[in-house]
Amino acid sequence: MRLAERTSRIATSATMAVGAAVDKLRRAGVEVIDFGAGEPDFGTPDAIKAAAHKALDDEFTKYTPVPGIAELRKAVCDRYKTDYGVSYSEPQVILSAGGKQALYNAALALFGPGDEVITHQPYWPTIVEQVKLADATPVAVMTSPADAFAVHADAMLKAVTPRTRGIIINSPCNPTGALISEQEFSTIAEFAGKRDIWIVLDLCYERLIYDPVPHNLPKILADLCPETAVICGSASKAYAMTGWRCGWTIGPAKMIAACNAIQSHATSNVNSITQKAVVEALSGVQTPVKAMLDEYRTRRDHLYGWLTADPRIKCLKPAGAFYMFPDISDAMAAGGFKTSIDFAQALLDETRVAVTPGEAFDSPGFIRMSYATSMENLKEGSRRLVEFVQAHAGTPAAAAR
Ligand code: PMP
Repeated sequence: MRLAERTSRIATSATMAVGAAVDKLRRAGVEVIDFGAGEPDFGTPDAIKAAAHKALDDEFTKYTPVPGIAELRKAVCDRYKTDYGVSYSEPQVILSAGGKQALYNAALALFGPGDEVITHQPYWPTIVEQVKLADATPVAVMTSPADAFAVHADAMLKAVTPRTRGIIINSPCNPTGALISEQEFSTIAEFAGKRDIWIVLDLCYERLIYDPVPHNLPKILADLCPETAVICGSASKAYAMTGWRCGWTIGPAKMIAACNAIQSHATSNVNSITQKAVVEALSGVQTPVKAMLDEYRTRRDHLYGWLTADPRIKCLKPAGAFYMFPDISDAMAAGGFKTSIDFAQALLDETRVAVTPGEAFDSPGFIRMSYATSMENLKEGSRRLVEFVQAHAGTPAAAAR
């Protein structure tokens, strides 16, 4: 069978593959504790669902303008004005089928053959695969758990060559939960503005930051490089709306017009009912967001405590998003596992606990555990994980002798 050459450059989403394995086991009647899913376990807040019911009852079921209804584009502008004090106008906004399509449109609009696009690693795999789909070359700059996966401007800018067309930053980061500091981000933004390099800022987890640390990245972009700055956001994580499929891109009007042209030939508008629901999500009361964040924080703190009961599961407390990304290289070495894929597979086979192996983020030696699941699951799942490590690698005390 002859497929297009680009298909040979693209891997299917490894994070989605874990979900498929869990789904298969569950359909066979096996109970699984799933730390793989990258989505809130909460229901969509009631007011948002009511807005969707109303849209249906009102027969709001037809095509809309490709970039979204004016009311929703305005709601995005208003949200960012409230949250960051930055003003955008409606022609600077397009709604897409999730942050994923928002980022994909941006990659297609901005990058092409011969271009290099820098990002930080560990990364969400879609970021680099989309760059490849745009026929450009991803360039990854390593961050390290030794300094909490901080993104450093000097390391990122050292990777710049005459071919560099873009820098993609994801903060809070999936899978590490790390935030880029305003200072490092300013250095990158200032450089990008002067050198006409695009900055694509993936803010899909922007509402899930645990402490009041300064993180006004939109303001920095508006001040330092408004002509080369693109923000991609999403309703998925903040409002527990992953299945509704709604994200957005904010950028210079000409760039947004290019995204509009691309989307007009691919998927057209976001589902009309979803659009009405997201108007409510963005402009209604924001208390559900805070309630979910508080619950994630409690879960994070408990999970951290349970996992670090074994010192060979080395965790950092994430500053944002809802993933723990422990370094399990010591546990792997002591247990005779060559890869974290082997580790994750054995964990699933033996204990029915699903985690995403670090290889999914090009970071072997780690696993990603989503704590967007119940406290009971977190407690029981981490108990099984620690027991699994000790069954294969001995107790920490014995290992230390
Ligand atoms: N960016 C990152 C870093 C993500 O983890 C995700 C979802 N896993 C997205 C963007 C896109 O999410 P969605 O398409 O549901 O908005």
